[in-house]
This record gives sequence, structure tokens and C-alpha cells, in this order.
Amino acid sequence: MEPQVLIIAEHDGSAPDPTTLELIAWGSQIAAEKSWKLGVMVLGHAMGTVVEALRNSGVDAVYALDDPALATFNAGTHVAAIAAALSKDSPRVILLGHSYLGIEMASTIAVKLGAPLWSNCKTIKAGADGFVVTRPMCGGAYVSTLEITSATCNVFTVQRGGLSAQGLTSKNAQVSTLAMPADADAAKIKVVGETKATFAEDITQADLLVSVGRGIGQQSQLDAFRDLAKALGGSLSASRPIVDSGWLPVDNQVGLSGRTVRPKVYLAFGISGSAQHMAGMRDSKVIIAINQDANAPIFQIAHYGIVADLFQILPALMDAAKESAAAK
Ligand SMILES: Cc1cc2nc3c(=O)[nH]c(=O)nc-3n(C[C@H](O)[C@H](O)[C@H](O)COP(=O)(O)OP(=O)(O)OC[C@H]3O[C@@H](n4cnc5c(N)ncnc54)[C@H](O)[C@@H]3O)c2cc1C
Repeated sequence: MEPQVLIIAEHDGSAPDPTTLELIAWGSQIAAEKSWKLGVMVLGHAMGTVVEALRNSGVDAVYALDDPALATFNAGTHVAAIAAALSKDSPRVILLGHSYLGIEMASTIAVKLGAPLWSNCKTIKAGADGFVVTRPMCGGAYVSTLEITSATCNVFTVQRGGLSAQGLTSKNAQVSTLAMPADADAAKIKVVGETKATFAEDITQADLLVSVGRGIGQQSQLDAFRDLAKALGGSLSASRPIVDSGWLPVDNQVGLSGRTVRPKVYLAFGISGSAQHMAGMRDSKVIIAINQDANAPIFQIAHYGIVADLFQILPALMDAAKESAAAK
């Protein structure tokens, strides 16, 4: 199939998801390296603005599947439509976000196309004989590098936040409308209702995170750290024990079973630095750790470390943040 690199887009009905734009950045690199074409497939209903944004996103071709049956996400229906479109002629590379939707669709697409699936990739690049991906392993304690030389079609899910989508230039892509296959709506599961998830705050978008761990001791301390995050223009995040205790919603959890973040500044208060936590924040630009235990593993990846009781550091930081805000 030309394009040889195909991205399955995610969107909210009016604009492409940032994950999709990052996939376009990854896909552009591979396509340039291999002298291939880059395409994006988008499914939904009445999604004119999404198609227009994708047309100008730096891809060579846009494939739009617009049907009332695709108005609500249903993995069965969506995958049936994608597989039907690709059954005769698969691309060499299919990229999906390592997101709830991407994870749900990728395995079934791979099975339907008889293609291997490489999930949870941190990076993906063209290699001499195929592709090179990096993936976390052992709970994020290690990063494995894999050279993939097999298969004519490979399916990948790629973590968000690994590559900036800025700087992509429009190729004024051609838009092709694909027909919905007759049996695509025969999915065994019917979506009977939809409730929008309410994210208190999207910590993956914050430039600065004040992140708290078990070291803060009590739920009543949270407000002070929330105030600090606000004063510094950032958001509040946490390690898993804080979320397991019900002190913050799971949306605020950083780590292997939480969210992967790459803020400009990550301030870790009373977080020991387990492999599972670091898997979600180790790529932050500047990590500042405050912990009273000089041997806490977080100091191994911190750019700046303060060995102290966090309750002595917090007021001084708060004062500095207020002073800085007042001076602006
Ligand atoms: C499958 C699996 C998935 C997991 N997923 C995640 C995940 O996504 N995210 C995650 O965070 N964890 C995850 N965990 C849990 C993880 O293993 C750790 O238990 C957890 O990260 C520890 O959180 P913590 O650092 O807040 O607590 P602790 O390890 O208890 O560390 C608390 C730290 O606070 C310091 N401290 C205490 N008092 C003070 C003080 N007054 N001043 C300064 N420092 C102080 C201590 O020295 C200590 O280092 C997962 C575990 C498993 C098995």
C-alpha cells in the first residue's frame, strides 16, 4: 500500500488528539528515512474539521471513514472498518497511540492483518533493515532496544510525549473517502451510552508538576502542595500510595500504572523513586527531589536533590514562588 506508513488517528470530533500529531512526527521521520509516503486514517462521523486539520498536518494522504456507526467509539466496529480497508494491501507500518483507544484496537488489527504487534514503544525509528524501537521492561527499570527486521506489516503503539509535533509542515494532503464495509456494524458489543470522563486536570500537559508521595504523611497536607503547584503555575501529581489512599484521583497518578509525564520541571516531595514511579517521570527535563533519605533511589535520576525534611523546604519554596509572582 502507498502510503507505506499509516497512522490511525484519534480525535474528539473537532480536532485531532495531540497523540496523533506526535505519531505524525514519528511517521514523518520514518517516511523520510525510507523514502516512503505517510498517511493517516480517521474514523468518525461529521468530523470535517478533524479531516481538514489532518490534511494540513504534514501527511501525504488522509483516508476518511465517515459513518453514523462510527460516531461513538466501538472497538469492534472501528477495527472491522480499518481491517476491511487494509485487508487487500497492508501498509508496512501502522502506528497507533499507546492510549486506551490505541491499545484496544492495535491487538485486533494485528490479528486481523496477521501482523506482529510492538506495544508501548517509547521511540520508533527507521533502522538499516527495518525499524528500531525502545520499550520499557521490568516495570520500567530498564529500557530495551529492539531491531525489527521481520514481517511486511508491523503494528506499533507508541507512548505519548516522546517527540514534539511542532515544525510539521502541511503537504496539502489528498483526502480519500473510504466506504464503510457492509458487515462492520455487526460488532458483538453495542455501545448503549457514553459518559465523558472528567479529568480534574490533565497532568501530561503541565509544564511543571509538584508531585507528592507517601512522605507527606497526611491527606491534610495536600492543600499546601496544591497551593505551591498553583503559585508556580503547575499542577499537582502523586505517587501511587497517595492515589490508593483515595487522596487524589487516579488521573493524578504518575508511573507505570498511572500516567507518563515529561514536564519541564518535576518537583518530587517525599517520593522514594520506585522503578514503577520513575517509569512515568524519568524523562522530565529537570527533576528536583526533596527527600530526607540521602539514599532514596529518586536521587539517582534527579538533576537537583535536597536531603531534608520536606516540611522545612515547603514554606521557603512557597515564599519564593509568591515573591516571584509579585515581581512579575
Ligand atoms: C504493578 C505495580 C504498578 C505500580 N505502579 C505505580 C505507579 O504507577 N506509580 C507509583 O508511584 N507507584 C507504583 N507502584 C508502587 C511502587 O512500587 C511504590 O510502592 C510507590 O511508588 C512508592 O511510593 P512513594 O515513593 O510515595 O512511597 P515510599 O516508597 O514509601 O517513599 C516515601 C519517601 O518519603 C520520604 N519521606 C518520608 N517523610 C519525609 C519527610 N518528612 N521529608 C522528606 N522525605 C520524607 C522517605 O524517605 C521515602 O523515601 C506500582 C507497584 C506495582 C507492583
